[in-house]
Amino acid sequence: MSDVDVPESHPRYESLLTRHRIEDGVEKGITSQQGLIAQGRGEAFDYLLGERTIESADRAERVAAAHLLVADHSVISVNGNVAALVPGEIVELAEVTGADLEVNLFNRTEERIEAIAEHLREHGASEVKGMAADARIPGLDHERAKVDADGIGDADTVVVPLEDGDRAEALGEMGKTEIVIDLNPLSRSAQVAAVPIVDNVLRAVPNMTEHAQSLRDRSTGELQEMIDEFDPDETLAAAEEAIRTGEVA
Ligand code: ATP
Repeated sequence: MSDVDVPESHPRYESLLTRHRIEDGVEKGITSQQGLIAQGRGEAFDYLLGERTIESADRAERVAAAHLLVADHSVISVNGNVAALVPGEIVELAEVTGADLEVNLFNRTEERIEAIAEHLREHGASEVKGMAADARIPGLDHERAKVDADGIGDADTVVVPLEDGDRAEALGEMGKTEIVIDLNPLSRSAQVAAVPIVDNVLRAVPNMTEHAQSLRDRSTGELQEMIDEFDPDETLAAAEEAIRTGEVA
């Protein structure tokens, strides 16, 4: 079934659309089978959050945009789920903030890396990193550790949507400022992030772009002040509270 076959009146329209995008991603060789499982987990948390961007997530998305604007070198890591769900949106975020795009896979195969890079180029990306794989993240086994030396290897700020906990932890230990997008506020990735964004990547990425556009003219001092005021633990607690009580936090 393609996107257009889901009637918009269906109460779970967005959720079904997302599923079909992931299924299409698997068919195109962009998303792995494990990506389907990650999607299911995400769906459950999104349901508990009321399938909306809670206020604390919106604030985190604004601070994430500020980080990207003040960074010397920021990189957005793209995996199979991100490429299937928000290819055009992630290219736009990179353009607006001057970030690089790097394909980074948990289950790395050269074919899948190339398929994702091609998919991003079809959505307007001019340069996609991830093919060189000439640097390593210390403390991880071989395939998961591979990054580009002039990409994530060199970055001071990385956006890691739907990242596995081990790699998120290892990137943090390298001293990188990590912006994690993950619907599960209890996941290790969210817990180790400088900026945890507990929101669906479908809503988070375009919202970060909007924030970046509106913050573009702010001074570095002002952006830095927003960054310094941000408390990741408060954000995670607000998300947990929203899940428990159904209240917008
Ligand atoms: P960890 O290793 O960090 O404890 P994990 O083993 O649960 O996490 P994975 O299965 O690799 O991690 O990643 C899936 C994560 O991505 C889950 O936490 C899930 O909630 C989240 N996720 C899935 N789909 C989305 C989405 N569309 N937007 C945001 N987050 C998502």
